[in-house]
Amino acid sequence: MIAILRIGHRISRDKRITTHVALVARAFGAKKIYIDRKDTNLEKNIKSICNRFGGNFQIMTGIDRKKILKNWKGIIVHLTMYGENLISGIKKIDKKKDLLIIIGAEKVPPEMYHISDFNISIGNQPHSEVAALAIFLDRYTKGEWINNKYDGKIEILPKNKGKKVIIKD
Ligand code: SAM
Repeated sequence: MIAILRIGHRISRDKRITTHVALVARAFGAKKIYIDRKDTNLEKNIKSICNRFGGNFQIMTGIDRKKILKNWKGIIVHLTMYGENLISGIKKIDKKKDLLIIIGAEKVPPEMYHISDFNISIGNQPHSEVAALAIFLDRYTKGEWINNKYDGKIEILPKNKGKKVIIKD
């Protein structure tokens, strides 16, 4: 099971980017996202997508991050531009264990670097939590996320031109 812990979410400034983080998490194979600040609108938006497009992705906002981290039984990976190289770091992760991925918004508190089993960089340039998460999950799942089934009310069938959408009752 893969879960995401989003730290430093600022309700007005980060609403779009945290929505994108949650959508990428869901689409690329994570099962849960924890967001430190309470944001009912964000929860509503993500739940609405899940209702329509299926799957069993969960969102929880306003969580106690210290409690989540203390009680986590699996591996903790923090994505940061200061971390170890993706290619070498990812090989060391025990894939049989649950995985919690920490990503920041504003500056991440220093204890995140210490509490994590692995601090992993997606290149050492500053970019985006959305890109970092997508690339990490693609590599971690070896591209298998693409075969995930969601069984939603709305299903989009791949098509070169035009749109093919099935809407189930
Ligand atoms: N300025 C903040 C700091 O110094 O911690 C980081 C802001 S950055 C836009 C937000 C998040 O994107 C980071 O906390 C990290 O999780 C992720 N991120 C950005 N660039 C990254 C990179 N090259 N590798 C891995 N993660 C990255």
